[in-house]
Amino acid sequence: MSDRARAIAVQVEQFVRETVAPFERDPRRGPHGPSDALVDELKTLARGAGVLTPHILADGAHLTQRETAIILTATGLSPLGPVACNTAAPDEGNMYLLGKVGTPEQKAHFLEPLVRGESRSCFFMTEPAEAGGAGSDPSMMKTVCRRDGDDWIIDGRKRFATGADGAHIGIVMAKSEEGACMFLLDLPDPAIRMVRVLDTIDSATPGGHGEVEISGLRVPSAHMLGEAGEGFRYAQVRLSPARLSHCMRWLGACIRANEIAVDYANRRTAFGKPLIDHEGVGFMLADNLIDLRQCELMIDWCAGVLDAGSLGTTESSMTKVAVSEALMRVADRCVQVMGGTGVSGDTIVEQVFREVRAFRIYDGPTEVHKWSLAKKIRRDWMAANGQ
Ligand SMILES: Cc1cc2nc3c(=O)[nH]c(=O)nc-3n(C[C@H](O)[C@H](O)[C@H](O)COP(=O)(O)OP(=O)(O)OC[C@H]3O[C@@H](n4cnc5c(N)ncnc54)[C@H](O)[C@@H]3O)c2cc1C
Repeated sequence: MSDRARAIAVQVEQFVRETVAPFERDPRRGPHGPSDALVDELKTLARGAGVLTPHILADGAHLTQRETAIILTATGLSPLGPVACNTAAPDEGNMYLLGKVGTPEQKAHFLEPLVRGESRSCFFMTEPAEAGGAGSDPSMMKTVCRRDGDDWIIDGRKRFATGADGAHIGIVMAKSEEGACMFLLDLPDPAIRMVRVLDTIDSATPGGHGEVEISGLRVPSAHMLGEAGEGFRYAQVRLSPARLSHCMRWLGACIRANEIAVDYANRRTAFGKPLIDHEGVGFMLADNLIDLRQCELMIDWCAGVLDAGSLGTTESSMTKVAVSEALMRVADRCVQVMGGTGVSGDTIVEQVFREVRAFRIYDGPTEVHKWSLAKKIRRDWMAANGQ
């Protein structure tokens, strides 16, 4: 690991533990996520501490994925850390994609305000299930786009767009005759109606998760991201690093939840001795230590694959499944070790449990990753056996 990444991670960890964590009791942490006023205050503090967007260097270059891992894990030590440091989803994934695929003009207009932490963004891909739209299977996309002179016109409905309410920048996926396309949007736009913000189990992201109706949205050709028909390929560019960065942030959150559970189990007594001295509790904390270390190593392995220039589709699928499932076990044990306090809002353990539950679904549910891995196993077997 590079010295520069270690130095940044230390600075970020100190900031999140000392400055951000006290805001975990701030009433502006609403049911759909922290308010923009709270997020802006935290970003101002991060800017002052020199830890805003810490994974992107002053010249716009990204740190390597292995370097990013230790920094994003440090931002995750509080559920408010990623929004404070500007490493949260979906902005972090959108910044990565824009940095890879955007033109110089698109970067100046859309990417730079995001890197400076002045705007929030969202990603519109998923569509309502009851209308048969895109979900686990993105090829079911119903949202359409068509050329009109030098513009494109988009119509459709999107659901679960994290941060859509209050975002200034959007990336929308739609189908054209050439195939899937991606467009950059200035928000709000009168052609995009906010239908509702969903009530969901998680509450870490500002703006919650929005459902929108898009009617006759006009987008200039210059705001198409890359080429028409290449949308799914760009989604892949974003997908592996975005999956991995979720693993990094939620690893940080579970490390902190485990610290809280360890502290509880050492201070609290029952039946004449500290909880940790009861084997049932001690074993749960031992299992947490094992799962957390396995997550760290799996993230580091997958990050190394991406750093070597691979798209890492298989490796990021394996890592996303292993880490999200392991972190769910960790968060559940933390709740259990802490008894009633574990399910109360007195500590962040209860929130971490809710966040990690949702993580098993977004960026590909566990079963979809396993299904695609099984298809690869079949393909490899066929090739090895000349079939
Ligand atoms: C908190 C949260 C934030 C999100 N943020 C965004 C966002 O910002 N932008 C966006 O576009 N979307 C977002 N999503 C949507 C997310 O990407 C979808 O929920 C996900 O792709 C699954 O689609 P679906 O909900 O339609 O589930 P469905 O496609 O209906 O699948 C339901 C279940 O079926 C099973 N299943 C599906 N296919 C298979 C298979 N091949 N083999 C075995 N089992 C299978 C899985 O268990 C899956 O969980 C978010 C979702 C959540 C929960």
